[in-house]
Formats: sequence, C-alpha cells, structure tokens
Amino acid sequence: TRFSPRRALLSVSDKTGLVELAHALIAKGVEILSTGGSARTLRDAGLPVKEVSDHTGFPEILDGRVKTLVPWIHGGILGRRDKAEHQAQMQEHGIAPIDLVCVNLYPFAATVASGADEEQCVENIDIGGPAMVRAAAKNFASVAILTSPTQYEAFLNALAQGGTTLAERRAWAAAAYTHTAAYDGMIAAWFTQQDDEASKINGVSLPPVLTLSGQRDTLLRYGENPHQAAAFYRDGSTRPGLATARQIQGKALSYNNLNDTDAAFEAVAEFEAPTVVIVKHANPCGVASAGSVVEAWKAALRCDPVSAFGGIVALNRTLDEATAEQISAIFTEVIVAPDAEEGAKAILAKKKNLRLLLTGGVPEAQAPGLSFRSVSGGFLAQSRDNGHVTEDMLKVVTKRQPSKAEMADLLFAFRVAKHVKSNAVIYVKDQATVGIGAGQMSRVDSARIAARKSEDAAHAAGETDALTKGSVAASDAFFPFADGLESVVAAGATAVIQPGGSIRDQEVIDAADKAGIAMVFTGMRHFRH
Ligand code: 5GP
Repeated sequence: TRFSPRRALLSVSDKTGLVELAHALIAKGVEILSTGGSARTLRDAGLPVKEVSDHTGFPEILDGRVKTLVPWIHGGILGRRDKAEHQAQMQEHGIAPIDLVCVNLYPFAATVASGADEEQCVENIDIGGPAMVRAAAKNFASVAILTSPTQYEAFLNALAQGGTTLAERRAWAAAAYTHTAAYDGMIAAWFTQQDDEASKINGVSLPPVLTLSGQRDTLLRYGENPHQAAAFYRDGSTRPGLATARQIQGKALSYNNLNDTDAAFEAVAEFEAPTVVIVKHANPCGVASAGSVVEAWKAALRCDPVSAFGGIVALNRTLDEATAEQISAIFTEVIVAPDAEEGAKAILAKKKNLRLLLTGGVPEAQAPGLSFRSVSGGFLAQSRDNGHVTEDMLKVVTKRQPSKAEMADLLFAFRVAKHVKSNAVIYVKDQATVGIGAGQMSRVDSARIAARKSEDAAHAAGETDALTKGSVAASDAFFPFADGLESVVAAGATAVIQPGGSIRDQEVIDAADKAGIAMVFTGMRHFRH
C-alpha cells in the first residue's frame, strides 16, 4: 500500500535540492509548510509555500529557538491515521495531518569545527528539528521522514510510482534515528570536552562518554575469514582516504582489502616525494620514494617481490601510464591513489578483477583524531598516532655522526616503522626499504628476518650482496639489549634510528660505537599492534 502525502513540512539548514523537491511535491498537489529561511528559499524560487507561523497562528519566537514546537505541528505529525480517537482529537483542536517531514539539522559540527565561540555553538544545537525528525520517524506507519538531500531522489521516484511504501518509510525512520543519535552524540562530546582537563594527554582529551556511530555503507562478503560477517560503516569523516574513495573498477572490496588499503594509504601519506607503498596483510613489504612514481614503484617492488604478489599498492601521486603498465604486470589486489590519468585507467581496465580506488587527495598524516579497537567488554580509544619525527628532534648518541644521505634514510626508515606491526625493524637505502621485519615477538627476530628476506630479494635480483649491506636501520621502539643492535650491524647497517629510553641504552650505545656506526634517538616510539 503506497502512501502519497497531502501536506509536507520542509525545514532544512542544508538547502541542497530543496527547490527541486518542493517543485515536484507542488506538482502533485501537496501543500508545503515551511520555516523562515526554508520558506524564503522556496518563495525566491517562485513556489507557493505557507509559513509554519501562518499555519499554526503562532509566530516564530526566541530567535527561532521555538519555531515548530507546537501541537499543530507535532500533533499533525504524530496523530495515528488508523485510530478514530486520534482523528477526532485532531479535528477538535484544528490540527491538520502532516504526512511528509523533510528536516536536516543546524550544522552543529561545522560550527564547532569553524572555531566558533561557545554562544554560537550553543545556538547551533537544534531543538525543534530533532523533535520533528523523531516524531515523524515514530509515525513511519503513515509519515515519511527525509533527513538528507541524498534521499530526495528515491522519495521522488516512489512518489512517481504512486507513493512511498511502508518498507521505504521504515528505512527512512531508521536513518532518521541514526541521524539524531549521531547529532546528540556530537553535542555530548562537545560539552564533555569543554572542561575535561584531567583526561588530557599532549593536549588531546578523550570524552567521558563515547558512542560509536556510523552508517552501514557496504555489506562485505565476509570478515577476515569466511565464517565472520562484516560491513564498512561510514562515520561521516571527509578526510581523504577510504572516506572519499571511489571504486573505478574491479571486484567488490573485501574486509581485508579495505583494512590493507587503509594501511597502505595512511603509510604513503607520510612522504612528500613521489612514493609507493606495497602492503600485504596490513604490513608494508616495500616502500620507496623517488623522482617519479614509476621509479618509486620499481624500488618498492625490489624490497620483497615475492610478498608483493597479491598486494595492495598505494601512491601519493596521480597514477600515470608507465606505472600502471608496470603494476599490472604482477598480480595486484588493489591500487589506491589520489587520481589516475585516463591512459592509466585504460591500461588497468584490461585487468577486470583489479580494484582501482581514487580518493581525490592524500590523507593528512598529522591530522588529529581518534582510533579504536574492540576488546571484550568495550573498546579502546586513543588519539591517532600522528607523531612525525623531524631532523631537529633527533639526538646523535654515538661518536660517529650520520652522513647527510644516512640522515635522510634514517628519517625515511622511521616513518616506515610507524606503519609496520611491532616489533618492527626496517632497513633502508636511498629512500627505499631493502628489508622489513614485522610483527615478531622479539626485536632480534625482526632484525634477522628482515635481513634474511633482503638476502633472498638480492638473490632473486641476481645481486651478490644482501641489499641491507650499507643500509640504515630503524627500530619502532628501543633496543632493550645490545643483541638487537648487533644483529642489524651484522646485516650491514651503518646507521640506526630508534626512540632510546631503555635502562640499558648505554650498553646499546657502546655496542654501536664498537661497531663504528652512527645512531640517533628520536624520543618518540611508534608501537603498532
Ligand atoms: P530555516 O532555515 O527554515 O529558518 O530553519 C531550518 C532549521 O530550523 C532546520 O535545521 C530545523 O531543524 C530547525 N528548526 C525547525 N523548528 C525548530 C524549532 O522549533 N527550534 C529550533 N531550535 N530549530 C528548529
């Protein structure tokens, strides 16, 4: 049973698509009620519209704090069409039914983000809007509630087919409550953040109450494993990355694809020069910066060509034809880049399964934000690891100073280490990883595994020396004993970067001096678990 509205209330802050929507409604003979600014927009477009205040006989008062909070509006929305008593009471009090409510709320988040003062933020807490949204959603049996311009098209299609279905109205009701819940969540977070000095670390405070909220975007085939269910939920973020990704081609994305793509793209965002990151199982297996993307790709691939098979490739530059040609020569699951040349797209189009994601930008590596992990009984929240080690933060602790080239490679290696699961040991030469040891329970094992993989890569490339020879090494956390350092020296590293801070730092420094290598401390750790 389709249901067509006879009276609609349009009261929106975001006026996108409002005129088109009203135009189509009026063409169907629907009466339009509207509040101040929305009514003005419609009148300016030459559309007939009745002010809510004319409809109710009660003016908008208190600077718009009270516009629609009256029985003639809320009764009209909430009255049950299937109950004689409701209909009788509505008649008695002169309440006309309202069958469509189209409301989006005051832009509270945007106001806070703009740095507005407290009074402005408070005025941007919408009261009447959420009340109407919740009322209309409750009465979904007869009332349609639209809370976003993205829903107008589906609504108008339904109207053209004779009206909205119960299933459609129910789905919009769910979206409506999701919208108001997220809205109140933002407001609660803002209030609690105001004076919560006690929870602040490095200027970041965590709200005492945190409600995770997001809209289910894509149902994924399954989770990490086939017996797990999974979906991607959008939290409304517009920071370039998965939030802005458009899939240009390829198979549907899986949970692991999204997780790995995110890891790859966040890693590539650390670098200014043209850079390529290849990721497998959420760990980089090759990272390189160079004068061009294609050179960066070649250098990244050289680190571990065996693992790169079936990998995720992230670029911090537009994908060009030469690079597309090279990448498509080996089996690749996903390519993510800010943009792609038309010629590059044409080359990849031959690989039907390969997923190409374009994001329009590169993530801001140093942006603030929170990251989450579920644990039994709740979840852990922390501020993003947006730490960024620069040369001026480094302390040389050995007799030997790093050379200029070593210094550049040390910083590169530490930036990679931030994106490798702990314990992480990374070898770098000429702005390219030549060995990556990830996720081992002992730092010595990570150092050795990276060196051994590097030997394999050298053999595969027909080179005699392990690629780690004459490289620099990074460790994501301090070396607790000298043995870890000794193993990177054994692999051929000539300089080392690590946070420092172990009670045995002196032993480790002595071992470095004995080996004649240079070592710098960052004072910042990059655990990633
Ligand atoms: P307009 O631009 O049409 O003047 O205002 C539209 C906005 O007002 C919408 O975001 C809507 O949610 C909000 N709104 C509607 N009625 C009320 C009310 O009674 N009180 C408050 N504070 N906001 C309202």
